[in-house]
Amino acid sequence: MDIQALCSKLGIDGASFATGDLQVHSPIDGSRIASLYSSTQAEAERAIERAERAFFELRNWPAPKRGELVRLFGQELRQHKQALGELVTIECGKIRQEGLGEVQEMIDLCDFAVGLSRQLYGLTIASERPDHRMMEQWHPLGSVAVISAFNFPVAVWAWNFALAIVCGDPVIWKPSERTPVTALACHALFQRAIASANAPEHLSQVLIGGASLGAQLAADPRIALISATGSTRMGRALAPVVAARFGRALLELGGNNAMIVTKSADLALAVRAIVFSAVGTAGQRCTSLRRLFVHDAVRAELLSRLAGAYASLPIGSPLDASTLVGPLIDAHAFAAMQAALRTAAADGGTLECGGERVLAGARPEAFYVTPALVSMPQQTELVRSETFAPILYVLGYHELEAAIALQNGVEQGLSSSIFTTDMREAELFVSARGSDCGIANVNIGPSGAEIGGAFGGEKATGGGRESGSDAWRSYMRRATNTFNYSSQLPLAQGITFGE
Ligand code: NAD
Repeated sequence: MDIQALCSKLGIDGASFATGDLQVHSPIDGSRIASLYSSTQAEAERAIERAERAFFELRNWPAPKRGELVRLFGQELRQHKQALGELVTIECGKIRQEGLGEVQEMIDLCDFAVGLSRQLYGLTIASERPDHRMMEQWHPLGSVAVISAFNFPVAVWAWNFALAIVCGDPVIWKPSERTPVTALACHALFQRAIASANAPEHLSQVLIGGASLGAQLAADPRIALISATGSTRMGRALAPVVAARFGRALLELGGNNAMIVTKSADLALAVRAIVFSAVGTAGQRCTSLRRLFVHDAVRAELLSRLAGAYASLPIGSPLDASTLVGPLIDAHAFAAMQAALRTAAADGGTLECGGERVLAGARPEAFYVTPALVSMPQQTELVRSETFAPILYVLGYHELEAAIALQNGVEQGLSSSIFTTDMREAELFVSARGSDCGIANVNIGPSGAEIGGAFGGEKATGGGRESGSDAWRSYMRRATNTFNYSSQLPLAQGITFGE
């Protein structure tokens, strides 16, 4: 792992990351990859001031010109995809394919945002008054703060960033304290685009540090929108602070995602989707599959196929091309997984396979585990909570309506899916009586969304939507304009006033 060489390819001076107070470790082997200086409260204050000035400039740029800036950024990402993808792998431990996938997602989002920069449409609305016209305009909103989680260290920021820039909003980014180096690399690549486009300074700023910096951004009324990704616990602390100042919050919080496998399902397809969704990123995706509801008629068969697939999973360094399961982020994640497995056993669960630490001899400072498959007699409190590790709870069901009720019977509402070849079952699942999640898939697992759709979840997942569709509206303010081109002044609702 030659961090220095990677950093210099990406335009950051890795040698300067040696003396700071914030230690960054690679989950691959626990080695320290950087010591960064945390940003102070005063530095955050200056960043907010600079973003405000940048906003006053950027809002005057026509949106397609802002799109051109994002196009240039997308080019930088294309050129540096390998290096940035590798840095993602080293810093957060996801396998190479997933690290590269994150960067590809950024590129895709840039392309999407460039097109969008010419489509920030408002409506024209029929007026009830003669010779009047109504229309909506979407204007830049102001400074945006992005608070991000460790498990998608770059893509989630890019979802927000590319849209915010085309919408005319500068961005202050507070990345996870566990993955700040990738944030500095993204920022450096964007600075190249800024130079090529001769764009205003400070459209992107990065603040390094933890929760207190995030809390400072949340409380500051000059931040028009806080887009925060992380645990539901974090959202519970942050949301009231933003609401108290009538700021806008876009929350992408915890998930507890489920799949229903019906008796008509294509089991071979279901097994592939389950394994990818449950063990990908070592179960550390917001959309990871955590609960599996299987029709009693196919439960034994599916469990046996899954146990077979789990037994042959290559676990090891995410830098090795053959690895499918990399490490957990740190010792806390491992401890949380072990605690969950103990509780599952106490609740009457049966560990079908996995759950052990491996490679501890070769990598004592890293936490590799075999993904766990646990049969549960019922949906206990443990099953209803998110443990950020590769544990899949399997429960049987008889009636589809009951399985849907169980699936919806958790506080989170991010992602869900059904495997079925029965059209009635599929339609019920995606109907208003079906899944209550922001994402409801048919014959596809709950994780691995495309950028074209709006991404996000309901209930304790926070209700935010990012990425595709009309998610851009969160980054703009709507103004309704009514024009009178008559020589009268008729009032709405036919009201007469002193005439
Ligand atoms: P975390 O909540 O520990 O931290 C997330 C970010 O919030 C970090 O940058 C952290 O410094 C900051 N933060 C923490 N407390 C804060 C506070 N009170 N005020 C302001 N900022 C604060 O989450 P994590 O462990 O990095 O990530 C895992 C969690 O994120 C999981 O729950 C996962 O489901 C969730 N997640 C959700 C999505 C989504 O799109 N819904 C995507 C990725 C991760």
